[in-house]
Amino acid sequence: MKLKQVIRDIILEGNLSDFDGPNTPAALKKEKEIGNKTVKPHDAIEDLDLNTLNRNVTIKEYRYGPLNPSDEKGSAQFWEDKAKMWDTTVEAAKQSRCANCGAFNQKPDVIKKIEKAIGEEGDTIAKEANLGFCEFFWFKCAGARTCDAWVSGGPIKK
Ligand code: SF4
Repeated sequence: MKLKQVIRDIILEGNLSDFDGPNTPAALKKEKEIGNKTVKPHDAIEDLDLNTLNRNVTIKEYRYGPLNPSDEKGSAQFWEDKAKMWDTTVEAAKQSRCANCGAFNQKPDVIKKIEKAIGEEGDTIAKEANLGFCEFFWFKCAGARTCDAWVSGGPIKK
């Protein structure tokens, strides 16, 4: 746990409230509520506001997305920007997603916890969205999305 905190502190620098523009009120409220308190990585699985806070910081600092990976037209700019940043093609950029990221935790106990936290339809939602837990930024992420901190070698299955 301590190592995870160190990794996260090194990677993330800002607070969500540091960023201008539209944001999720519940996530901003959660950030205020936490203050200097320490939270455990997997707390976000059961706490939707904490999950959204961590996810939104990752959107702002590490360009997590796209919003809807099935929407080719709507997500075209997102993939073009990724390809430009990595000096590669859009097709190649699309090969590096949460689903095959080394920080994407899909261990059976984690998936079970995610399903339980979602509730009645947890099983279906987790499967359809190919959910896993991001061990870098501590939130439930969807397999078809990605971020600038993507690393090879995933997912973590056992
Ligand atoms: S699982 Fe990997 S690609 Fe997905 S948000 Fe986390 S670090 Fe980024």
